[in-house]
Amino acid sequence: MLYNSTRDKNVKLTASEAILKGLSDDGGLFVPESFPHIKSSMKQLSTLSYNDLAYEIMSLFLDDFTEAELRECIENAYGDNFDVPEIAPMSYADGSYYLELYHGPTIAFKDLALQILPHLMTASAKKNGVTKDIVILTATSGDTGKAAMAGFADVPHTKIMVFYPHGGVSDVQRLQMVTQKGGNVSVVSVDGNFDDCQTGVKQIFNDPSFKEEIEAKGFQFSSANSINIGRLVPQIVYYVYAYCNLIANEKISDGDPVNICVPTGNFGNILAAYIAKKIGVPINKLICASNMNNVLTDFFNTGTYDRNRDFHLTMSPSMDILISSNLERLIYFISGCDDRATAKFMDDLVSKGSYTITDSMKDGLSDFVAGCASESDTASEIKRIYDDTGYLIDTHTAVASFVANRFKTDSALSDQPRIISSTASPYKFARSIVGAIKGSAENDKSDLEMIDELEKLCDMPEPQAIKEIRHADIRHDGHIAINEMKNAVAEFLILLP
Ligand SMILES: *Cc1c(COP(=O)(O)O)cnc(C)c1O
Repeated sequence: MLYNSTRDKNVKLTASEAILKGLSDDGGLFVPESFPHIKSSMKQLSTLSYNDLAYEIMSLFLDDFTEAELRECIENAYGDNFDVPEIAPMSYADGSYYLELYHGPTIAFKDLALQILPHLMTASAKKNGVTKDIVILTATSGDTGKAAMAGFADVPHTKIMVFYPHGGVSDVQRLQMVTQKGGNVSVVSVDGNFDDCQTGVKQIFNDPSFKEEIEAKGFQFSSANSINIGRLVPQIVYYVYAYCNLIANEKISDGDPVNICVPTGNFGNILAAYIAKKIGVPINKLICASNMNNVLTDFFNTGTYDRNRDFHLTMSPSMDILISSNLERLIYFISGCDDRATAKFMDDLVSKGSYTITDSMKDGLSDFVAGCASESDTASEIKRIYDDTGYLIDTHTAVASFVANRFKTDSALSDQPRIISSTASPYKFARSIVGAIKGSAENDKSDLEMIDELEKLCDMPEPQAIKEIRHADIRHDGHIAINEMKNAVAEFLILLP
């Protein structure tokens, strides 16, 4: 299987080359040239462990890895660094299945991809005779940065630098990042929002003379952001696993349609669910859930993507995004793999901040429905589910839960089982969760005190990730302006005198 760029079909790379490169030189994202199809039945797959299933699914996409190489990556990624043997368990509450993707080391779903990406990258480097050290630059809205650093810390021949919006992440997210250990990691806050950080990283990647400069010093850039196919492919696995879990527990029969609702920011997680559908998982609708930054809700409902709108900081900060990078892949697929059309839409997004897809492309959106939740919708959803069932969900999951419940009466979805992608542990956003349940903000209390409050509300034990930040030293206190990002990278790589 080869990978094309969404902006140039003449680009054809193997999976390992695409993983190393991250982003195509033309600015496009790598996409498989066709969708493979799962060979076994879902019923057969439902007897497999998470790791065996991961091999079945990932080998369809990463076909230039040997079985031994891929299995080794999987074994390194999913083991007792997760606090449950199932890796991605499901809980039933309030009529929905919550797919808990937060049992990894940083208690958010990005661990599922970022625990394996460094292993895929070092295996890819070996395969392709790469002798330069890999430099990962990552813009983060909170969770990616920590999850990426946790994955890459002290992995030989790699360095990682993370940029996050100053004041745009929760205290716990910030503490998790600034206490990160490892001789090859650096993290700084930027005076700007997530999109500014992401744009800055893209500009560094697309700066040919800087690229030459770092290559001369023995480095090469790659990306750990959700645009890397080495992150996308592992995310497909847990949607197949979720479906198989329902079969194994006799909740559905093989072939029964289910709906999947995903709290969406950069469009990586939901795109993985879309690909799961394309390779044969019986998924009816993908429900795209947004917070007040509802640029995707409008896109799915009108066919116009328009980022010209106010940016809101919400209690689901990992979804505070106005440019959803991975949407470019969907645009490419629904255009019938038209690289020129995709490139034009993306140019319009840069120059005008908006684009409108064609009527025939709109037909391709029929796999999706979309909705959004306000801040008060999100808070009341957390409280309602807690009051009714005792089950606690985080703010991002609550956005998805609220939106999924709005489609309960929609005739195209109503009777079918709902799987809600539960993307973070409530412990990660304790202030908002306790605030939602108690109805008061308690602004005089610290985040760690709020975690103590949360612990009193539930029987979920405090995760290891929280225990670790209680006493850890602050190792990274850098704070820069947007236009200093390139300089910061140069300093980190010791390119400057
Ligand atoms: C990153 C993140 C999201 C959004 O996922 P995308 O793949 O960017 O759409 C949702 N919830 C949490 C907790 C996250 O960390």
